[in-house]
Amino acid sequence: MAKIFTDCLVTGQPIDTGIEVDEASFGRLPLFLGRVFCAHCETEHEWTKDKAKLVDADKQQA
Ligand SMILES: [Zn+2]
Repeated sequence: MAKIFTDCLVTGQPIDTGIEVDEASFGRLPLFLGRVFCAHCETEHEWTKDKAKLVDADKQQA
């Protein structure tokens, strides 16, 4: 499973959306608009699939 991150528009820091998905499932998702609370600037940001970054938890630890 991978976690979805999106960049904060203000600080450029990655935000953990709290969503876990495998890459195959993510690829099948349609374009959508998500909202995530950003801990970096304490604001809610909107994000879309094309702004999302999948981070594989297993690969990250290696
Ligand atoms: Zn932010």
